[in-house]
Amino acid sequence: NASRLLGKTVLVTGASAGIGAATAILFAKGGSNVILCARRVDALAKVAEACTSAHKESGLQQGGKFATVQLDVADKAQVASLFDKIPQDLHDVDILVNNAGFVYGTERVGDIAPSDYEAMFATNVFGLIAITQLFLKRFKAKKSGHVINLGSVAGREAYVGGSIYCATKHAVRAFTNSLMKEVVDTPIRVTEIQPGMVETEFSIVRFRGDKSAADKVYEGLHPLTAEDIAEEIVWAAARPPHVNLAEVFVLPVNQA
Ligand code: NDP
Repeated sequence: NASRLLGKTVLVTGASAGIGAATAILFAKGGSNVILCARRVDALAKVAEACTSAHKESGLQQGGKFATVQLDVADKAQVASLFDKIPQDLHDVDILVNNAGFVYGTERVGDIAPSDYEAMFATNVFGLIAITQLFLKRFKAKKSGHVINLGSVAGREAYVGGSIYCATKHAVRAFTNSLMKEVVDTPIRVTEIQPGMVETEFSIVRFRGDKSAADKVYEGLHPLTAEDIAEEIVWAAARPPHVNLAEVFVLPVNQA
């Protein structure tokens, strides 16, 4: 029931594009307040405008507060001071969506530059852990909260040329599962969303900006859209408080 999201406050990392942007807009449409975080502030501002329009169109009274925060989740100091940049009236966050993440390159193990594997782990794993720790303290204090992490099909299996990305998403899955067990005696919920192929800027980043190589990945397929995944995230958040969707594995119909 979407009414459970009315007036809730959601923080989304990686909200400047793709799944994060679509998620922010869908929560806005459902009457939630949203804090949008990412490194590109111009792109964030555009998504925040789209949130405002979506909320207006909904005609809902609740929600409608949107803030943008420049945040590199891989920067520990920025994560530690995150609440200094969030307006006071949005400090009481109910739902954390740990969405920021990327894959860079398609090299096999012997050819991966240490700077690339370190960067992927810094964002996809260490950034996610640091933010989760920051919110867990608050969720425990207020005895409620929902952590929604973006895993991947790459966290369930592995493929050639994706060793580091797959390793980061396997780490996210294990971390998320441990966290869920650690808070089992609290009302805090922990969910992992595991998408298959979603057409976003993700593939362009993977191919280091080579758009034609990125587009080839989707040839002959009907990939998921960012909105498809946003729907799963918002659905998980809107379940009754005693229901925890532990893992949501979503594939395009022609990916197995
Ligand atoms: P996009 O490339 O479209 O968006 C990624 C977002 O993450 C951007 O908003 C980017 O913003 C942000 N981001 C990247 N690094 C950082 C960082 N260090 N700090 C803060 N924000 C960061 O990709 P998707 O929307 O497709 O991906 C979202 C999530 O979904 C990722 O975790 C990805 O691994 C996962 N996923 C994606 C799949 C796909 O096929 N697309 C499949 C399975 C999982 P900015 O550059 O402004 O910081």
